[in-house]
Amino acid sequence: MSLAKTGPRKDGAGYERVSCSAVVGADGAQSSVARAAGWCGLTTVPLVHAIVKLPSGMPSDTVRVWFVPDDTPYFYWLIPESGGRGALGLIGLNGQQTRRCLDRFMEKRHFRALAFQGARIPVYQGWVPVERRVGRGSVYLVGDAAAQVKVTTVGGVVTGFRGALGVSESILNGGRSRELRMLRRELDLHLLIRRSIHGFGQADYSRLVDWMDNAMRRTLSRVTRDEAARVLWHICRNRPRIFLLGLRGLLACLLHPAKRRDTSMALPLSVPSVTQR
Ligand SMILES: Cc1cc2nc3c(=O)[nH]c(=O)nc-3n(C[C@H](O)[C@H](O)[C@H](O)COP(=O)(O)OP(=O)(O)OC[C@H]3O[C@@H](n4cnc5c(N)ncnc54)[C@H](O)[C@@H]3O)c2cc1C
Repeated sequence: MSLAKTGPRKDGAGYERVSCSAVVGADGAQSSVARAAGWCGLTTVPLVHAIVKLPSGMPSDTVRVWFVPDDTPYFYWLIPESGGRGALGLIGLNGQQTRRCLDRFMEKRHFRALAFQGARIPVYQGWVPVERRVGRGSVYLVGDAAAQVKVTTVGGVVTGFRGALGVSESILNGGRSRELRMLRRELDLHLLIRRSIHGFGQADYSRLVDWMDNAMRRTLSRVTRDEAARVLWHICRNRPRIFLLGLRGLLACLLHPAKRRDTSMALPLSVPSVTQR
């Protein structure tokens, strides 16, 4: 990398012009690097959460989730933080509507908000090629900038780090990266699971929870949500009915796409680009 020029801009901010063969954009869902290098914008969903006092008796090492499909195809969570407080939130489809749902949910369950926070999270709808040639160099994206978010839980911390590892491998190995191939498989699997549960109604969720036995609970406490293939394998082996329930959801998604409130999860899976990694 070489430094070509520095100086003040007209608006008073400083700048440096550098010349390098690789630039990595890890600047989040609204990535300016991605925009400047010509990637399309990502589909995002709103996350709203409130800091609340934990209900008395709630253990500080336990997370609670609620499935309320009338409010969201995702779920509500309550994650304990320090000092008897927790983050109560949900991911929705529309910002204002999602905030209204959270207000209603808190009122019904007697939670009082100490503060609100919100953000937009990218949803993975198919692999985003992580490299583009610009001039004689390459621009790479990692993390939220490349929608490396598992859409089962809409979490991107672990997958984002895997994306960063993959891009470093790719830079060092002349474009080859096993980590990126594995990450893509992982994200596609989460997309498949999301599509199979995205249209679930209350009765489906009740069935899902009722069908979970102790062995299944043990599996879920041992295998992280970042290992979708292992979770699926345990489900197929031990609770095939749950697997069939998911398959039914997937078929419904395929056969009745028009009935869905949210088209961001529409089939089919995207076809890999041949020109870009
Ligand atoms: C409230 C909330 C809770 C979440 N909980 C979880 C969870 O429990 N588990 C999970 O896996 N994921 C969770 N996520 C998602 C997770 O935080 C993101 O997927 C992850 O942080 C993505 O990392 P990133 O580095 O790609 O992007 P970011 O964390 O968004 O980091 C991008 C960075 O780039 C900087 N930046 C942006 N533009 C510029 C610029 N022009 N110049 C310089 N710097 C710039 C930003 O300031 C920021 O520091 C949560 C997200 C939110 C908002």
